[in-house]
Amino acid sequence: MSHDGLSMDRDPAPAPGVPRASEPPGAQPLTDILLRPPARPSRPPAPPPEPERAAVELTIDGVTVTIPAGSTILEACRAQGIDTPTLCYLENLTPVNVCRVCVVEVTGSRVLVPACSRKVEAGMDVKTNSDRVRHSRKMVLEFLGSSVDLSTAPSALGYIERYGADTARYGPADAPSPAGERDRHEAGHHHAPPIDAAQTVEQPVKVDNDLYVRDYSKCILCYKCVEACGEDAQNTFAIAVAGRGFDARISTESAVPLPDSACVYCGNCIGVCPTGALMFKSEHDMRAAGTWDESAQTTTQTICPYCGVGCALDLHVQDNAIVTVTSPLDSSVTDGHLCIKGRFGFQFVQNRGPGPA
Ligand code: SF4
Ligand code: SF4
Repeated sequence: MSHDGLSMDRDPAPAPGVPRASEPPGAQPLTDILLRPPARPSRPPAPPPEPERAAVELTIDGVTVTIPAGSTILEACRAQGIDTPTLCYLENLTPVNVCRVCVVEVTGSRVLVPACSRKVEAGMDVKTNSDRVRHSRKMVLEFLGSSVDLSTAPSALGYIERYGADTARYGPADAPSPAGERDRHEAGHHHAPPIDAAQTVEQPVKVDNDLYVRDYSKCILCYKCVEACGEDAQNTFAIAVAGRGFDARISTESAVPLPDSACVYCGNCIGVCPTGALMFKSEHDMRAAGTWDESAQTTTQTICPYCGVGCALDLHVQDNAIVTVTSPLDSSVTDGHLCIKGRFGFQFVQNRGPGPA
């Protein structure tokens, strides 16, 4: 032991590279090990460059088109400036091809194919505006318009006009369902449809929290909210499709109110809903009061002040007050999605008070 009784007696430190007397012959000098700079973690190898995608040649509406392999027919149409209608498609979600308004005719295919998910193939002959395509799109829009309130779905209303869809062709709408009745319909338990009226999904609006409302009279069952709440963004899985056929509807687990569900109020479902079925309560209340005026609104881009992630925000302002908040789809930080704070935590801006005189 040393004189202070604390440290072990060691032979004096030799010069670097020279072994201590106590170290076995041939051993790597301890000083070398101690003085060597720590090994830096090796960087992960750079990902291999994306292989250039082979070009595919196909025909769209009689025009020869060349597009990278793996593209969808919708992408090929858009590259040609062909305005293809979509309702369930969104760039930042996985295509589920359920709304069927983007269908096109492919020579040799028995049925019309959804352009949003069908990949291009060499030699494909695609028709986007044939009688068959227009007829199918018109019929789908008539089904939707006869059973769903599309009054806050500008794109659907535009398609109805474009394809001359007669949303009244199935007669007057059937009576609305009382609150909660559609939520109780059992899968596989079918009811006879009305014979002198058009079936409707009309029902009272669900207002069960202060942040957003669910008006399933306006739901076209596009699945976008389910995808945004699930694997495509939030991974919370608070909502899903329940029921079958005309009874199918978006539901929380066991149809519980939103505050009793797994919902974390990120509002990403509102951000993707194409019909206004899911809506900020602020917007819902202003519409009810007759004060909602999109033409009087301005948009200010900013960064969320709550944390260091730096989410891009679009503040929608009317009468000098923030009325809703969205995030751009092409933001590399958010992909259009936010959390509860960025989406709904804007009241403090209005509540600051007059400030110093
Ligand atoms: S607010 Fe977020 S967590 Fe709640 S249902 Fe919508 S996407 Fe899911
Ligand atoms: S609530 Fe909106 S996003 Fe969800 S399925 Fe219905 S229309 Fe689509």
